[in-house]
Amino acid sequence: MSCLFCRIIAGEIPSSKVYEDDEVFAFNDINPQAPLHVLIVRRAAAIAAENGYAERGYRTVFNCNAEAGQTVFHVHLHLLAGRSLGWPPG
Ligand code: 5GP
Repeated sequence: MSCLFCRIIAGEIPSSKVYEDDEVFAFNDINPQAPLHVLIVRRAAAIAAENGYAERGYRTVFNCNAEAGQTVFHVHLHLLAGRSLGWPPG
């Protein structure tokens, strides 16, 4: 298995897991860009709420292919919160 995130999901590479069930695995980004920076396959709104950012605000981002900044080619959602997030993103 060569995909980095597949190996993290399989437990072959350690990660700071935030949530796991039969359909979802969520873990903290190794290079966080905000106080809360979680990589998720679904369930983003619930994780934001559980971390206290539901009302204050949070951002979810899919980087799709290289020009958008994607570096790991396993579909994943970024959840960022805990600082003022500029717009447009870089
Ligand atoms: P992308 O750039 O593909 O949208 O997002 C990939 C994300 O994966 C980056 O934010 C990067 O910091 C994170 N990342 C890369 N390698 C690892 C790792 O080994 N562990 C964790 N937890 N995150 C990683």
